[in-house]
Amino acid sequence: MEVCVMAKCTYKSETIMFSISEKSSMVDVSKTLCLRFRGLQLISNAKSVDILLKDLCGISEYSGDFCANKELIACEKGESSCSSTVEDINEFFGKSKRASAKPLLLNEWETYIHQVGQKFDGGVEEFRLKLCKYALEVGFNFLYAGNEKRLVISICSNKKLMGCSWRVYASCCEVTGCFVIQTLHNVHTCAGRIRESKSKMMRSRVVSSLFVDRIRAKPKLKLVEIIHELKDYYGIDISYYHAWFGKELAKLDIHGDESKPFNKLVWYADAIKETNSGSLCELECEAGINCFRRFFVSFGGSIAGFQYCIPLLFIDATFLKSKYKGQFLCASGKNGNQGFYPLPFRVVDSETEENWTWFLQHLAAILLSMGRIMTFFSDYNQGLLNTMGAMFPGWPHS
Ligand SMILES: [Zn+2]
Repeated sequence: MEVCVMAKCTYKSETIMFSISEKSSMVDVSKTLCLRFRGLQLISNAKSVDILLKDLCGISEYSGDFCANKELIACEKGESSCSSTVEDINEFFGKSKRASAKPLLLNEWETYIHQVGQKFDGGVEEFRLKLCKYALEVGFNFLYAGNEKRLVISICSNKKLMGCSWRVYASCCEVTGCFVIQTLHNVHTCAGRIRESKSKMMRSRVVSSLFVDRIRAKPKLKLVEIIHELKDYYGIDISYYHAWFGKELAKLDIHGDESKPFNKLVWYADAIKETNSGSLCELECEAGINCFRRFFVSFGGSIAGFQYCIPLLFIDATFLKSKYKGQFLCASGKNGNQGFYPLPFRVVDSETEENWTWFLQHLAAILLSMGRIMTFFSDYNQGLLNTMGAMFPGWPHS
């Protein structure tokens, strides 16, 4: 592959960038400089044209100045030393890149898209992901000209402005179900190939794929750790939002969609009643829209066993930290081993008096039939207190 570097040139208060390949001569560079800088000619009195050389990986850069002034004059005079000077400079470009480049974990991404017939067993998801990683490593942005489950066409984002001909077309194989590259024009005719630490191609799905195993092992992995590790090991800067959304996607891959279990609650309530006789289970939804509101469960086995526990009940609520929040209300006793003995529990949207009333009504249905007086322990939540006296008159409460 042809080695390219980006030259950053400053003349007076103006700065430009353009690519230099191994084949570029100093005459080419000089002509580009004169073309891009107004007022600069081949014979020039300019004394400070600084060129910053930056390799394609964006890892190392040579910030030493070299004055193009001398070569500009030499070209004008027709001296033949231009070409040899260029060779020296190009040698220096290559050395600069290799000597100080830190090996990054994304180096192998360059091989992800390489030939027609290449297969992606993970289907369109794997193809899209590897295409993003390839673009990140090679240093360009792409657009989707077609993006469906069975067909993806991507073009270089510089196609409109510079007419770049880079293009890949992949489709789903009917027989095997995998994605296959059908056509690939893997040469950029634009001048925009440079890998930068910030890229539009660094999407949340890429973050998720890189950290899913870490998050599985350490669910409380901090976003700032993700951001720092991407910088240290991949040389990539990402926003806080992309780190957060990438982590959410990884959690989705690990635990599944948190909204889907709600669809199974009706089945779950029926299954409890069928398989655990004596259970008290009630699911309540918002009228008209069938949106989840609250859910009460007390297993038949727990109700039967509680008759042999000491008559103490600890009542409290705690916050649920899932995507949909809510509160978890529970009444627990103590068993003979001094361990917790959960009797009923329920999930509600918030700790209101109405919700406490609903909870205690169900609890009373269980306790009053036992014929024992219980002693309650609670944090004296106002909503709980207002209902407790009416529901269990004369029962001790501390
Ligand atoms: Zn291009």
